[in-house]
Amino acid sequence: MNIIDLHIHSTYSDGTLTPTEIVRLAEERKVKVIAITDHDTINGLEEFEKVDTNYVEKVNGVEISVQMKDFNFHMVGLFIDYKNEQFRQKIDYLKKARSNRNVKIIQKLNDLGYEITLEELEVIAKGEIGRPHISQILLEKGYFKDKQEVFNKLLKKGAPAYFDKFRYSPEEAVNIIKNIGNGIAILAHPGLLPFKRSEKAQIISYLKEIGIDGLEVYYSEHSPDETKFLKELATKNELLISGGTDFHGKNKLGINLGTGRGNLNIDYAIFEQLKEFWYERRAK
Ligand code: AMP
Ligand code: FE
Ligand code: FE
Ligand code: ZN
Repeated sequence: MNIIDLHIHSTYSDGTLTPTEIVRLAEERKVKVIAITDHDTINGLEEFEKVDTNYVEKVNGVEISVQMKDFNFHMVGLFIDYKNEQFRQKIDYLKKARSNRNVKIIQKLNDLGYEITLEELEVIAKGEIGRPHISQILLEKGYFKDKQEVFNKLLKKGAPAYFDKFRYSPEEAVNIIKNIGNGIAILAHPGLLPFKRSEKAQIISYLKEIGIDGLEVYYSEHSPDETKFLKELATKNELLISGGTDFHGKNKLGINLGTGRGNLNIDYAIFEQLKEFWYERRAK
């Protein structure tokens, strides 16, 4: 069976491998299709497109931060036309929001007595700076023992150095991915939504109403039971099924490209369905 991985982060967000290294790893691990879906940036896609490979099919993607009422979630865009100028501007706005937020987090950390500067972050982050980079610096300086501790004590939502950033509404994210970017819009890792199943079902039917195309049913952190539940929801709502590992290289230990925590083998047929849907819509 050919396997696929439609959720991957590179050094252009908070992954530790470059797009080129990711393609090489996919060849090695026999992952037939890969999508790079960096957080709020498309800067890695140019390098990604240029990598020569006889084996891997490459899909241009992005993972957009979304705010709905009082909670946040992620929307993955696949097959996006990242060269479209209007699309680039919309994503660029998110990058600016992220930079502004980073400055605030650093200020807060300094006020709390932690020595950390933007310059230090820029050295370790090749692309967009995120909280994982901040935690890395704090670990290197010996303030904490592990990454989770940094998040729990300082960086997670509600913690003392947490700052929110601007996020698009679900409607706008769908508009950006589908209408402007000509891609397909997928709800990322629905299993991570902090809600009961009945509430998840409501959120998903709302997202279907506003035009989302699919659900990321297969995901590293979805239990078999959750996967089954999401598959049923996809069928019920006539949504496409997608899947990926959320590979971040060394920034998410234990998650391997293509196989996640070991047994996430997503069939090539899933990709064919997505691609076919995308082609048909474009032909219209
Ligand atoms: P950012 O893009 O800067 O908001 O950082 C988001 C990234 O931080 C996610 O992709 C995770 O890798 C990591 N992250 C977010 N929240 C937590 C948490 N509570 N515990 C551990 N890691 C987290
Ligand atoms: Fe991440
Ligand atoms: Fe995500
Ligand atoms: Zn992700």
